[in-house]
Amino acid sequence: MAKFIGVDYFDVESLYTEDEKMVRDSVRDFVDEEVLPIIEKHNRESTFPSHLIPKMAEMGLFGPTLPSKYGCAELNNVAYGLIMQELERGDSGIRSFASVQSALVMYPIFAFGSEEQKDFWLPKLAKAEKIGCFGLTEPDYGSNPGGMVTKAEKVDGGFVINGAKMWITNGTIADVAVVWAKLDGVVRGFLIEKGTKGFSAPEMKGKHSLRASVTSELVFDNVFIPEENLLPKTEGLKNALMCLNQARYGIAWGVVGSMLACYDTALNYAKSRVQFSKPIAAYQITQEKLVYMLTEITKAQLINLQLGRLKDSGKLKHTQVSFAKRNNCEKALEIARMSREILGANGILDEYPVMRHAANLESVKTYEGTHEMHTLIIGEDITGFSAFD
Ligand code: FAD
Repeated sequence: MAKFIGVDYFDVESLYTEDEKMVRDSVRDFVDEEVLPIIEKHNRESTFPSHLIPKMAEMGLFGPTLPSKYGCAELNNVAYGLIMQELERGDSGIRSFASVQSALVMYPIFAFGSEEQKDFWLPKLAKAEKIGCFGLTEPDYGSNPGGMVTKAEKVDGGFVINGAKMWITNGTIADVAVVWAKLDGVVRGFLIEKGTKGFSAPEMKGKHSLRASVTSELVFDNVFIPEENLLPKTEGLKNALMCLNQARYGIAWGVVGSMLACYDTALNYAKSRVQFSKPIAAYQITQEKLVYMLTEITKAQLINLQLGRLKDSGKLKHTQVSFAKRNNCEKALEIARMSREILGANGILDEYPVMRHAANLESVKTYEGTHEMHTLIIGEDITGFSAFD
């Protein structure tokens, strides 16, 4: 398989540091060599390629911005974003696995955990000796997680959890779940380990999207957990939303990987597919599509770079993360659909990655806040009026 050389119309390359490029290139090679050759099979069979997990851990792809004392790579946020971008060029399911482990499990333990919790869990999660998941969404509470009905009750020596979560990435394969539940009406975070009595995580089947990713229910039936499993610094829904903000940041970068895969496929196809007298790339309507794709990729690359620089300087606002997540997911989906059009009937075959990305992006546009939720977040920011309720 030919080595992927990237798409860079505005010399964005010159704005990355050597370290950032080195990290990106190593993940790019990993995806070319180890993900792309096997991903269609996993997508077809609806299985997650778990054999990639140890290699990803060895490469330092889990919790890569966290301190080295926990066995993490201590990279900056641009390097982290580039990791997400390259993984998602392989498949959104692979990026989702890494996003959940890093942004939704290691981050909350790092930000809201006790010293003991951090020392115990973070090195194991970095090495992928343990896998985590993040349970916020419930069957009746998706965009409005504040309404959650999963409850924690204080009892002697700990808590009893009752309720259910749905749509939880990695749920069935996770050793530990970061679960959000109301304790005396206040949303708190809890660590619930696989095998705890009353806790089950059945896999959800029948997805047309993110097929190479495990999605599960989490069911809590009088689950007793000891006191030390509470994340002590959680004190309301805002802490769960802080985690989502980390994950949204990674998604904004990740979907550029899908854009790159779809654009690259469409450009190469258009140059070689002859209809009537010429390659279809020589027709104005095809060129219009390719130029649109390139333009949106370039804008997303520049948005992401500034997003990362703002994050590294501590100036990033959550509304800017919403802006990037919203825009980039929407454009990635448009690009995937346009790429499918350029490939004609071949576009629906799994010989090409386009339809897989298009299907995956339907989930990516929906999770971590739907397109509409991010519109309302930005809308409130610029008008001062909340339109949620
Ligand atoms: P709903 O909230 O029911 O929304 C349905 C539609 O109504 C959407 O278009 C929405 O934008 C719109 N809508 C809702 N309210 C308004 C309003 N006020 N104004 C205008 N429009 C509105 N969750 C986790 O906790 N952990 C995970 O690991 C996780 N992984 C996921 C993996 C996959 C593959 C998928 C598909 C989802 C995952 N989710 C996860 C859940 C995801 O975050 C939710 O699906 C998402 O938040 C939307 O919730 P919902 O599906 O219940 O849609």
